[in-house]
Amino acid sequence: MAASLIDGKRVAAALRANVAARTAALGYRPGLAVVLVGDDPASSVYVRNKDRAATEAGIAARTLRLPADTPEAALLATIADLNADPAVDGILVQLPLPGQIRARVVIGAIDPAKDVDGFHPVNVGRLHDGTATLIPCTPLGVMKLLAEAGVALRGARAVVLGRSAIVGKPVAALLTAADATVTIAHSRTRDLAAECRRADVLVAAVGRPELVRGDWIAPGAVVIDVGINRLPDGRLVGDVAFAEAAAVAAAITPVPGGVGPMTIACLIENTLTAAIARRGS
Ligand code: NAP
Repeated sequence: MAASLIDGKRVAAALRANVAARTAALGYRPGLAVVLVGDDPASSVYVRNKDRAATEAGIAARTLRLPADTPEAALLATIADLNADPAVDGILVQLPLPGQIRARVVIGAIDPAKDVDGFHPVNVGRLHDGTATLIPCTPLGVMKLLAEAGVALRGARAVVLGRSAIVGKPVAALLTAADATVTIAHSRTRDLAAECRRADVLVAAVGRPELVRGDWIAPGAVVIDVGINRLPDGRLVGDVAFAEAAAVAAAITPVPGGVGPMTIACLIENTLTAAIARRGS
């Protein structure tokens, strides 16, 4: 393996420790409310991990579990209560939501100052005009990993594979703000491999196991693999064929242990950021 490993576990642990130290120095405990509708097993695991990480960082975390058949109006009423609760600094509604609930409406109902996922249209707009306080957690984690790896983004050619509102688009906005020259590729891109080969920095967020092969990667490129895919045999792999890519790239994130741990660490940091911004210190 020629590439150096970008160790998300280590970077995330350091960030969580940093947030814990800053939280301990406050005269109050920031509050995080995580709302889980239904009993999707993967969502339950994510929510449990978020709750535990927040608590370890000194944040007063609570999870509100609502039944799968909760009407949209009832969820909106819960959000209104959390918006009005002065002890709550961050609100996160775990996605996906059951079919009777429109995610767009629910996200739009969260107070933008408490929107620690950074998905509210006001925060999306702020991300694009460069005034964001709350940046979506996974894209923020990607940027922190690039910074930690010492990657020079100014003038670099960056290719983002995937254009979701949760990962691809915000990553592209952040890379643009960091002065990279950014291409966004997606399922309608004519020659994906050729686009990827031009990248100094490649961020893959497609949700297709090992789609990106070693010969799609320019020698010396930096590869950030956001994908988390479970294979039929139970193995967890990214969107990049790791061994092939690591033979060519200068640096690469593993899956698991790359971007994944950064997402929760950034959620914890966003909760602290929201608390300080809302309370004034
Ligand atoms: P998504 O909403 O399904 O979006 C996938 C994107 O990839 C879309 O823009 C889609 O193109 C594109 N795409 C799909 N198949 C493609 C193909 N064969 N060739 C080119 N483009 C293709 O997924 P997401 O929410 O962004 O998540 C992406 C991956 O990241 C998933 O594996 C997810 O589990 C993972 N993820 C990880 C974290 C973490 O904490 N590490 C957080 C969030 C997501 P179109 O727009 O044209 O359909």
